[in-house]
Amino acid sequence: TYDYIIIGAGTAGLVVANRLTEDGKTTVLVLEAGVSDEGVIPAIAPFLGPTLTPNTPYDWNYTVVPQKGMHGRTFSYPRGRLLGGSSSANYMVHQYGSDEDWDRFANLTRDPGWAWKNVKNYVQKHEKIVPANDGHNTAGQFIPSLHGFDGEVSVSLPGFNLSIDARVMATTGQLPEFPYNEDTSGGDHSLLGIGFVQSSIGKGVRSSSSTSYLANANSRPNLTVLINATVVKLLQSGKKGALKSFRSVQFSSSPDSVTMTVKARKEVILSAGTIGTTQILQLSGIGNSADLKALKIPVLINNPAVGANLIDHVLLPNVFNVKDGESLDNFLRDPNLLGPAIDEWTANKTGIIANSVANTFGFARLPSNSTIFKTVADPASGPKSPHWEIIVSDFWIYPGVAQPATGSFLTLITALISSTSRGTIKLQSTNPFDKPLIDPNYLTTEFDIVALRESVKASKRFVAAPAWADYVISPFGRLSATSDIDIDNYIRDVASTVFHPVGTAAMSSSSSKSGVVDQNLLVKGADGLRIVDASVFPFIPSTHTQGPVYPLAERASDLIKV
Ligand code: FAD
Repeated sequence: TYDYIIIGAGTAGLVVANRLTEDGKTTVLVLEAGVSDEGVIPAIAPFLGPTLTPNTPYDWNYTVVPQKGMHGRTFSYPRGRLLGGSSSANYMVHQYGSDEDWDRFANLTRDPGWAWKNVKNYVQKHEKIVPANDGHNTAGQFIPSLHGFDGEVSVSLPGFNLSIDARVMATTGQLPEFPYNEDTSGGDHSLLGIGFVQSSIGKGVRSSSSTSYLANANSRPNLTVLINATVVKLLQSGKKGALKSFRSVQFSSSPDSVTMTVKARKEVILSAGTIGTTQILQLSGIGNSADLKALKIPVLINNPAVGANLIDHVLLPNVFNVKDGESLDNFLRDPNLLGPAIDEWTANKTGIIANSVANTFGFARLPSNSTIFKTVADPASGPKSPHWEIIVSDFWIYPGVAQPATGSFLTLITALISSTSRGTIKLQSTNPFDKPLIDPNYLTTEFDIVALRESVKASKRFVAAPAWADYVISPFGRLSATSDIDIDNYIRDVASTVFHPVGTAAMSSSSSKSGVVDQNLLVKGADGLRIVDASVFPFIPSTHTQGPVYPLAERASDLIKV
């Protein structure tokens, strides 16, 4: 028996494991389905990160069900399946969402503890700003007073200059639509505008929840982390008044192995991520009674909010043909160039392999007089929060389509940020080793398609700045579409995920009948069961989601300790 059992050694789970075991008298068991991250080079070398998924042993290898808003397409839906979870497999963009995002959570839960004013203290506790890997002067590229320097996860500015960086910065001076943003981390500094990416990278290697929070706690005798341990179910362990207690956890190493049961004295903490947590709740009889009954799962807590309200960001790669030779495309094609770069990283942790895949990006809003706002309420969390994002990439990025054998490209990824479509996660069967049915239900509202359509038009205005005149040649393929209907069809044929699912175990105030967990992240109707991961966000933060998960988990740790 342990005081606490944490399910999932992912982004959130390892924060909680570290904080709870700071007290040497508290025992914690972490159960992780995946493998170790040790020596897994693509999980360490930042530029190689995107090769870790999809369809590898380090990925859960999910796919989405055919998406009706995307002409019936299905595609990969990566999630990290190794120590560190998705923080070991993601693209390392690191920021925290807007203060308006957090204040909306505080209003919804009626808990001022979730307001940015309080959450920013946890950002400070979490973050450790370190110098850019190439040692360049970062003055004017971030605002030190907004950041933490003594936390756990290393965060740095780009450490390898790309020739397009100067063009991006020149664009911010040439087009008032895309102003320069001196700090892209969010909070009470606006996310709007274009600036430098801050990444969870330090000294040329990825900084994940495993290489930080776990590494710093691993030697504690009161912490046990088990890998290859897939949790298959929670068992009711008793009752507390009207509440059902869930302090027993069943796990197994494979579909053919024996199932073992462990018990927590104090609490079970579900940190299996939006997909895993939802699946475990449902397998345990906590969910929509109609869906559970259809699978003959005894209903222990009927809550239709479990697995509903799935929200994600939508990614669209807008590719332009550019002047040959300057982009990274030739480098990526040529083993004689790529090989030495990998050797340099192996020897010194320097060069392009030590860098993430994008140096510059930014966020924008639809103009307030946009026609869509005559019929649709603004879905952003406030007037300072974005509707869409733009990420500037120096090479061909087109999920699912291989780089062409010739040609040089600039990819302006645009992403839908204030998504209004809502989807579901449901069980396919009662077998915990079967993948659940993931339906983000993308692009099924008018707002979502309008916002992405406007982002496509904006990407063309971006490269029309004088800074690109001697570089960008033409839109690639169907990006040349000009009519709304052609742009919409292009989007529905090409868009996919930014890998940010949230919302299927949403938090709300304890007095509210909606939601899955209360403001303290305790599961409604249950005793001894808490959820700490991205699934509890009731709205999607207007940002890449690992950043918000960290302060969420830091604060949750304090809530658990109370
Ligand atoms: P996770 O970190 O996914 O942790 C869940 C853990 O639980 C995993 O280790 C998993 O293996 C384990 N688990 C699941 N089911 C079980 C079970 N039944 N039993 C035991 N263990 C289980 N965010 C950013 O901010 N910036 C980015 O650049 C970025 N890029 C991304 C790129 C990719 C390819 C992916 C997949 C994600 C990306 N994200 C990015 C999103 C971000 O990484 C996630 O939102 C965040 O890490 C989620 O944290 P979590 O704690 O909720 O879940």
